[in-house]
Amino acid sequence: MGKINILDKHVAELIAAGEVVERPSSVIKELVENSIDAGATAVTVEIKNGGVTFMRVSDNGSGILKEDIRPAFVRHATSKVKVEDDLDAIATLGFRGEALASVSSVSHLELITKAKEEDIGTRYQIEGGEETLFEDAGCPDGTTFIIRDLFYNVPARMKFLKTDMAEGNAVSNVMDKIALSHPEIAFTYIKDGKTVLRTAGDAKLLSAIYAVYGRDFAKSLIPVDYTLGGIHVSGFISRPENARPNRNMQNFFINRRFVICKTAMAAISEACKGVVMVGKFPSCVLNLDMSFNAVDVNVHPTKLEVRFVNERPVFDAVYHAVKTALMNGEKRIEAKLGSDPAKPVKRVNPFELAQRVFRERDEQPVPTPAQKPLPKVDLQQEKKKADALFEMLDEPEISVPPLGGTVRVSDSASPFADRYQRHLAEKRAAKEQADEQRREASAETDAEKPKANEAQTSPAGHEASEELQAATTPAETVPQPIEEPAPLIDLDENYWRFVGEAFKTYIIIEKNARELLLIDKHAAHERILYEKLKAEKGSGCSQLLLTPLTVTLNKLDYNAVIENLDVLAEAGFDIDDFGSGSVIVRSAPQYLPLEDIEPSVIEMAGYLAENKKDIRSAKMEWIYANVSCRAAIKGGNTSTEQELIALARQVENEDVRHCPHGRPVCISLKKRELERMFGRVE
Ligand code: ADP
Ligand code: MG
Repeated sequence: MGKINILDKHVAELIAAGEVVERPSSVIKELVENSIDAGATAVTVEIKNGGVTFMRVSDNGSGILKEDIRPAFVRHATSKVKVEDDLDAIATLGFRGEALASVSSVSHLELITKAKEEDIGTRYQIEGGEETLFEDAGCPDGTTFIIRDLFYNVPARMKFLKTDMAEGNAVSNVMDKIALSHPEIAFTYIKDGKTVLRTAGDAKLLSAIYAVYGRDFAKSLIPVDYTLGGIHVSGFISRPENARPNRNMQNFFINRRFVICKTAMAAISEACKGVVMVGKFPSCVLNLDMSFNAVDVNVHPTKLEVRFVNERPVFDAVYHAVKTALMNGEKRIEAKLGSDPAKPVKRVNPFELAQRVFRERDEQPVPTPAQKPLPKVDLQQEKKKADALFEMLDEPEISVPPLGGTVRVSDSASPFADRYQRHLAEKRAAKEQADEQRREASAETDAEKPKANEAQTSPAGHEASEELQAATTPAETVPQPIEEPAPLIDLDENYWRFVGEAFKTYIIIEKNARELLLIDKHAAHERILYEKLKAEKGSGCSQLLLTPLTVTLNKLDYNAVIENLDVLAEAGFDIDDFGSGSVIVRSAPQYLPLEDIEPSVIEMAGYLAENKKDIRSAKMEWIYANVSCRAAIKGGNTSTEQELIALARQVENEDVRHCPHGRPVCISLKKRELERMFGRVE
C-alpha cells in the first residue's frame, strides 16, 4: 500500500493557514488591507488581549455581495485577480485569495457586511472553517469582521504566541505602518478599550506621521519629492543630526504597500555619506510610486518583500531624491539662521583657502614706492617687546639647526641680534653656575654615581642635553662633528613619563627607558568604565535626570524595552512606559553624557528586539558595553594632560588589555625595536 495520503480539507486548510496567519498582527494586516482594497475611507480596529481573544475590523468600504460571501472564504477565491496576466500588474494589496480562508479555519469568525448596491446586509459565522450562521442583518454599508479565539483549534500554533503585550505591540506596529501608508484613510485603533491611534484621514502624510510618531518627530523632518526614471519618491526624511543608531525607523512603501526594501536602505546610506555620521541612519517615511509591472509583489506569503524587475532605477531614484532633499533642507536651515541662501556657507578646504588668499593677494595692485606708506616704528615700544620676549625664552627652547650644532642667530637681520647674543651669554653663565653648584652637591651625596647619568637633568634625556649643548655653543664656534652618543640607560624600573598624545587618540608613555607604550584612549576608557559598571552592577551608578527624557520607538523596539524594564533597571536605566510607542527615562548611568542617553536607549531597544533569546547576563553585558562605549572619551576629541596621565596609569595598574569589543588597548614598542628600525643596532 502506498505511503502518500491526500490530506483532508481541514488538515490542508490548517497547513495553508500557517503561511499567512502567524499571529494576531498578521490577521489584522490582512483584514485592514482588505478594507483598503474595498475603498474604505474610515477603518476602525479594536483588539483585546493582544488580539488573541478578540479582534474587530470595521470599514465603510464597498461591502460584500450576499452571493460573494461564501466564495470569499474559499481558498484562492478573490475578486482582485482573474487571469494570469493580472498578476503582472497588481494594484491591490490583496490578490492571493487566501486570507479569509486561512483566518476562518483557525478561529471563530463573524462577518457583518452590506454591499452598497443591496438593501439588506448579512451576518455570517464560520468556526474552524465550518459555516454556522448565514442570515440577513440590518447594518450600514461596509464590512465588519470579528475574530475570536485565534488558534483555538491549533494548540501547536497557540504555543508559539508571545505574551499579550508582545502580540498587542506587534499589532500596533502593523497599524502604524498601515496608517503611514494611507494618510487618506481615517484609522482608529483601540487596544483593550483605549484608543491608541487616530489619524485624520486628511491625505496629508505629515499629519499621519504626527499621529503615529508624535509631534517632536514630525516637526524635525525634511520633505522629499523627486521623480526619476518613472519612479516618484515622496515623503519625509529626518535631519542628519537626528539620525538614529539603527534602521528601525526607516519606513518604505512601494505603491502604498509597506515593504522591507534593502535597495532603498542602501541608497539612503549612500546619499547620506559625509552628512550623517558612520553607523547612524536617518529615519524616514518614503513612498515609492512606480508602474505596477516594475515590481513583483508575489514573492513572499505575507508580501513583506518585493522584487524589482530592475533594481538600479530604484536605487538611483531614492539616492537622488534623498540627496536633493538634504541639500534643500540645508538651505532652509541657513535661511532660518539669516544667512544669504544664494551664498551657502561652505566649509572650505584649507588648501583651497590658502590658494585663494594667494591669488587675491597677487591680484592686488603693487603699491608704487611713492604710495607705499612708511611703517611707523615706535622704538621704545619695540624694545620693550623684545625685552619681554627674551625673558620668556629659555635656552632649550631655542630652535636648533638639525646638523652642525651651531645657533646662527648672528646671521639674523634683526636689529636686536646683538642684544639677543648678550642675553644668551648671560643666561648661559647663570646656568653654568647653577649646574656647577648642583654637581658639587651631588658629588657630595653620591660619589659613586656614573658621570653619564649627570647629563640627564631634563626629562627628555640625552637628546635634550645634546640640544642644550648645541644651543649654548657660541655662534662663532666652528661646527663640531656629531659624536655617537654614549648609551644612556635608565635602569630605574619605576621610570615612567607621559610623552604626549598623537592624533588626539593615542597616549604615548615612555617606560623605564626600555619601551614606549601606545594607548588607545577611547578603548582604554571604554574598558575601565565597562569594568566599573559591571562591578557596581550598573544601578549603583545610576543618576536621576533633572528632566526626564521621552524616547519614541517603533512598536517592536518599544515592546522589547517594556519587556526588559528590569534588565535595564539593573543596568542603571530607570525607564517607564509612556504609552503609544514612547518610554520615559528617569535615570541613567552617571557616566553617560546627557546627549547620549536617547541614542543609547534606541540602540538598546533595537538590540533587545532582535536578540530576545539572549540570556539575561548576555543582555547585561551588551548594555554595559554599549554604555561604556558611549560614555568613554572619544578618539579625536581633545583631552587634558591630567586626564590622559590618569588613564594611562589606570591601564597599567589594572593591566587592561582589550576593550569590551576585543580590540587591543595598549601596544608596546620596545626601544630595541626602534633602534633596529633606525639601524642603530643589528
Ligand atoms: P484577497 O484579498 O487576496 O482577494 P481575501 O481572502 O483577503 O483575498 O479576501 C477574499 C475576497 O473577499 C476579496 O477578494 C474581496 O472580494 C472580499 N473581501 C474581503 N474583505 C472585504 C472587505 N472588507 N470589503 C469588501 N470585500 C472584502
Ligand atoms: Mg486580502
